[in-house]
Amino acid sequence: MIDQARQVLKDTFGYDNFRLQQEQAITQILDRKDALVIMPTGGGKSIVYQIPALLFDGLTVVISPLISLMKDQVEQLREYGIDAVYLNSSLSHDVYDFNVRKVKSGKVKLLYVAPETLMMDKTREMLNNLTVDCLTIDEAHCISEWGHDFRPEYRQIAKLREDFPEAVCVALTATATPRVQQDIKSILKFDDSEEFISSFDRENLFLKVVDKKDPLNQLLDYLFTRKKQSGIIYCFSRRQVDELAEALEDEGYSVKPYHAGLSDGMRAGNQRAFIKDDVSIIVATIAFGMGINKPNVRFVIHYDMPQNIESYYQQIGRAGRDGLRSDCLLLYGSSDTQKIRYFINKKQGQEKEVAEKHLKDLVKYLETTDCRRKPLMSYFGENYPKEECGMCDNCLSVDDEVEDLTIQAQQFLSTIIRSGEKFGAGHIADILRGSKAKKVMENSHDELSTYGIGIDWSKDQWMQISKLLIRQEYISKGEHGNLKLEKSALAVLDGSENVFGTLDRSKTSLEGEAVVRTSSEIENEHDAALFDLLRLKRKELADEQDIPPYSIFPDTTLIEMAYFFPQSKESLDPLYGVGNVKKEKYGDAFIGVVKKYAAEHKVEERKKSLEKKVVATKKIGEKYEVIGEAFNAGQSIELLAEEHGVKDMTILKHLKDFLDAGNELRLEGLLNASSLSLRQRDQVLKAFKKKGPLMLRPVYDELNKTIGYDELKIIQLYYMASEK
Ligand code: ADP
Ligand code: ZN
Repeated sequence: MIDQARQVLKDTFGYDNFRLQQEQAITQILDRKDALVIMPTGGGKSIVYQIPALLFDGLTVVISPLISLMKDQVEQLREYGIDAVYLNSSLSHDVYDFNVRKVKSGKVKLLYVAPETLMMDKTREMLNNLTVDCLTIDEAHCISEWGHDFRPEYRQIAKLREDFPEAVCVALTATATPRVQQDIKSILKFDDSEEFISSFDRENLFLKVVDKKDPLNQLLDYLFTRKKQSGIIYCFSRRQVDELAEALEDEGYSVKPYHAGLSDGMRAGNQRAFIKDDVSIIVATIAFGMGINKPNVRFVIHYDMPQNIESYYQQIGRAGRDGLRSDCLLLYGSSDTQKIRYFINKKQGQEKEVAEKHLKDLVKYLETTDCRRKPLMSYFGENYPKEECGMCDNCLSVDDEVEDLTIQAQQFLSTIIRSGEKFGAGHIADILRGSKAKKVMENSHDELSTYGIGIDWSKDQWMQISKLLIRQEYISKGEHGNLKLEKSALAVLDGSENVFGTLDRSKTSLEGEAVVRTSSEIENEHDAALFDLLRLKRKELADEQDIPPYSIFPDTTLIEMAYFFPQSKESLDPLYGVGNVKKEKYGDAFIGVVKKYAAEHKVEERKKSLEKKVVATKKIGEKYEVIGEAFNAGQSIELLAEEHGVKDMTILKHLKDFLDAGNELRLEGLLNASSLSLRQRDQVLKAFKKKGPLMLRPVYDELNKTIGYDELKIIQLYYMASEK
């Protein structure tokens, strides 16, 4: 069966290989066993039920809470030549009846319905007379009260299952919290063997956080070189959205606002314009994004701080669904933190605690000097396996030189003490710089002995010192943003401890690493002028049919055309996203554009073979290799740690990288670093067996949080090494 599925993947969708856990999940569904599929946004969940739907004889019913998305999905399926319809309250009476007749005729393979439509007697009646082979529940987190988007009507779906005892059930979501996963499974009565969790890392997203200085100009600098690209800019408030949208429009950008204060019609119109590439940029509050399937969103910018990591991740997830490099940029200003703190202080009890924890996790992400994927993935219970991702600002910044900042640190710390630990960083900086600000004068802080001694340094530099001291835990922030000394600060003040760090002065440009390119030769070297012409052709074809351009071909396909210059239908075959139906329908139109261009510019067709070449770039002498080989040669973990001056856990990480790079690892000695009892080890190994070895969080929960992550990492490595 899976061979047939592979054939459909190529012939219908035009893709060569399955991604992530698609293949495993599809195999399971074709075996008629229920499946819970958890993949990040853009991971490719749809194909997991669409391919079985095409292979089953009967109907696949897809329940989705997002009415706007249904239309979009059905349009896309029709472009692939797949018979699909939808039923929801947005349809006119006539169209509704027409669709019902189509379903009854048995021709339709996929039926998309809203939950409330499904609950209606006439819908149930219609379905009772048909063979339903698969019941798919999209956005399955809506079933759980613990999800961020609970919908009571979703609860009734569980009962509906009983009406179709023969149908296999597939639940899909991008929500990673174990609590929600558990809920979905228990409500739908799935048991444990039916889970497919993919990694949440989206490799094509470039992550960058910059200090918010002069946000509008920072933004304009960034947009300047991206006139034609699609993107979303998130703001905190409706007013901010309106103002920013207007400012960008004044600068000549194609932009529309989106927030809950606009009329329904206006919102829908602006969203549709964005989807159809009629406008490039949407400036929005968090109200925007649900049900946006547009694959070529090239940037998501947070003009203000997001609420928490979970919603941040969801929002940046809307970038780069097509797998091409996309930018996720965040402007980080301390006044934003204060705003959030202000709202937190209005809450009480547990709610307040949770909000504080969220803020803390977020700030940890924002202020890390490590690879940003580490705190991000660890928030989702995943262990980021690499030392550097090469796709975040921290991994790409040239190593700044570490300076001795002891004197400045002492000045800063003593100013905090002298002003009674009651003030925030800005005020301390003002005192040091001898400012005549009202607040300084009113508090007679011009009389302090440190007043004006820091004039050589800019306010920004002092603010950076403050952050650095917080990071290094010499000071902490009090309830009102006031700075307080920690015990360790005393050693700095009395000169027995030095403070080292880097003050980066380049952290304000959103542009920065614009030169960074992806590892894809095709993405980097395609002919941009031809790409633009192909886009125009696509837009023309889309407008003729009133469908979004991406449902004709994604950008990736056009980029491949602009690299390979295909001039016959056969040479379209190996290209990404070219299935048989689309080839027949649109092939000639695009080949026409390529031919004309190739003749004018005297370029020749390049052949793309069906076999993808794998370019292995192996750097020699990587640290993990040195350590991996030494370990295999018999050295112990402790000895290696001693020799390299690092902790045992660091050695384990190198060993994991070594393993991940495809090497084998000897098993003896691996468990020496563990202090678990044999029984506990056995329990952990069983948990990995059950939950899969890739993620720690599910295993941690499975063991009722009794065994810490470090121990889990050791056993994980052992488990993975023994599976080789
Ligand atoms: P999700 O629902 O998980 O957010 P989608 O199902 O919309 O993601 O898929 C995201 C994009 O990836 C779509 O354009 C889809 O056609 C494409 N895609 C899915 N599976 C594959 C695959 N195996 N190879 C290449 N592209 C794929
Ligand atoms: Zn990184």
